[in-house]
Amino acid sequence: MIEDFPKNEMKFDERFRHEHNCLDYLFELRWPNGFICPTCDHSLYWKSARGLLVCRQCQKHVSITAGTIFHGAKKPLAYWFKALWWFSTRKSSVNALALQQALGLGSYHTAWCWLQKFRTCTIFPDRALLSGQVEADEFYLGGERSGKRGRGADHKCKVAVAVERQGKKLGRLRMQVIDDCSSAQLLPFAQKNIVPSSTISTDGWKGYNGLEKDFDHHRVLAAQAENKESVLPGVHLVISLVKRVILGTFQGRFDPDYLQRYLDEYVFRFNRRTCRVPGKRFWRIIQSAVASPPLTNCRLTPA
Ligand SMILES: [Zn+2]
Repeated sequence: MIEDFPKNEMKFDERFRHEHNCLDYLFELRWPNGFICPTCDHSLYWKSARGLLVCRQCQKHVSITAGTIFHGAKKPLAYWFKALWWFSTRKSSVNALALQQALGLGSYHTAWCWLQKFRTCTIFPDRALLSGQVEADEFYLGGERSGKRGRGADHKCKVAVAVERQGKKLGRLRMQVIDDCSSAQLLPFAQKNIVPSSTISTDGWKGYNGLEKDFDHHRVLAAQAENKESVLPGVHLVISLVKRVILGTFQGRFDPDYLQRYLDEYVFRFNRRTCRVPGKRFWRIIQSAVASPPLTNCRLTPA
């Protein structure tokens, strides 16, 4: 696919001022090689007065937004595009109040729903697995409780995390909400996210027993358990950053049902933190938005 996106906000504003600009862009994303009727594969169409594409062979009416997160949108597409630009180009995670204010949306609920939709567009089925040197660990969100290692505290949300180490620098990140810290949860997380034969460093927790089957597993044992933070510095840095963002963005209050989406958003931003072209992030997300069905079960969290 040709990389076609506005490089910066000025270009964005010039390009997507009207509904037809947005529709033309969505058309290009959906049918980069020209229209194909979803029913009969015919390539010729005419445009109806309501902006629908009508297949010249079978007369099927095709909406450009059908099967995308924009389907059935009540607000003009220019609003959606601007919101998507705003969402994809922020450096840090965002909340609904900030979006509502940035766009002057009348309803908090609308802003909240849009963000939930956008977050589902931050992961891509074709993303490359982590590789090389990887650090893996787990952490807890939702209320702190003192405990030896915290692994038995069942009331908290548990998250598996893996991050690449490239010398002293951090590479790409993956995070997933897990039911518990057993090998039944942690091993599939590693297999799903890391290239086989990569080197994985863990703190030697028993849930990681069995990693050596597919990976080069290093158990980095701390002399004392309290000194854990100095043992896997990369993954522990990430964990402290994520906790701070969840606390800062959502004041620590989040619905566990949506935690995976917040983590996905964080990973999207983290993995693109060195990208200097904001439009490229927008382009990545809108491609995903075009391939994502509309979200229908949008409900407001008590916050
Ligand atoms: Zn047709």
